[in-house]
Amino acid sequence: MKKVILTGDRPTGKLHLGHLASSLRLRLKYQIEADYDEMYVFSADMQGLTDNAKTPEKIKENVFEVIKDNLSIGLDPNKITFFVQSGIPELNELTMYYLNLVTLSRLKRNPTIKEEIKQRGFEESIPVGFLTYPISQAADITAFDANIIPVGDDQIPILEQVCEIVDTFNNTYGEALVRPKYVIPENKSSRRLPGTDGKAKMSKSAGNCIYLTDDTETVRKKVMGMYTDPNHIKIEDPGNTKDNPVFIYLDAFCKDRDKYEELKSHYEQGGLGDKAVKEYLFEVLEEMLTPIREKRAYYDTHPEIVEEIIKDGTKKAREKASEVLSRVRKQIGVEYFN
Ligand code: ATP
Ligand code: MG
Repeated sequence: MKKVILTGDRPTGKLHLGHLASSLRLRLKYQIEADYDEMYVFSADMQGLTDNAKTPEKIKENVFEVIKDNLSIGLDPNKITFFVQSGIPELNELTMYYLNLVTLSRLKRNPTIKEEIKQRGFEESIPVGFLTYPISQAADITAFDANIIPVGDDQIPILEQVCEIVDTFNNTYGEALVRPKYVIPENKSSRRLPGTDGKAKMSKSAGNCIYLTDDTETVRKKVMGMYTDPNHIKIEDPGNTKDNPVFIYLDAFCKDRDKYEELKSHYEQGGLGDKAVKEYLFEVLEEMLTPIREKRAYYDTHPEIVEEIIKDGTKKAREKASEVLSRVRKQIGVEYFN
């Protein structure tokens, strides 16, 4: 079977270290190993609108930005098809068919959706579009016969739901859809990077991010202000590295594993101050972010190149999605004329 990779980012803000730790780095790994037949990366603007309907300008501002973030880490537009979700109306028709295959109670049981509803304070006023975004995600994935989905671990329950939709479709109408598999990072710290405030997830919507576009001074300030172990008061106190975002970031990004292990045990024993560890983390991040910023600067000064990449990619992606939609219509029997 063909290996088709697909992932998307919501244009609700620029991309951050959490994205880099999980989905972005996995995309890059597949590209470097050339271990796939087709790869698609898209800006999920329609999904972004599901919880930002009243602030569409925020989405518009970021539609190309998230693609630029992808390009700036070294993803190659000659090897990957970049597209905008709203440029593929076929996705909406697929969503309509899939809506009938899912119950309301099943949607409400999804732990990621539950958590996000709480985080956004929707309570009983949940936009229908937001609650059903896992269904539109099933359309995004199946429209390209995608079977490899590199993500962070908050996406696991969504992908499980997508697989249920695929199974229900295939059992009801006959095999037509490809069942996807999620891929998460091997390194546990990278699966769900916490925020600089120590909260469980770095997230654009939570404002606890270090962005790929942050300049040196901003990164320094954010790192120096990071939450650490609140009980590590004096330098000689033994410290906790497990729930400490500074060490979690080091685990995710520090290439010198011996140095990381050494700092970790020193901190746990006592005698190592937060400031020194933060200085080191800052160095590690700077080394990683410098080439990303340089590439980004190129795309920032060449907006016409970015636009061309996305325009061409959207056209190409649409051709593929219409093939899959024809297959789906045929299978259901929504085909009345020759
Ligand atoms: P929003 O708050 O608007 O949902 P987000 O920061 O969660 O934004 P998404 O665009 O929803 O970002 O996620 C894109 C991809 O990045 C997904 O695969 C998701 O699992 C991954 N991801 C997002 N945040 C993190 C994180 N903190 N750690 C690891 N992976 C993450
Ligand atoms: Mg999210």
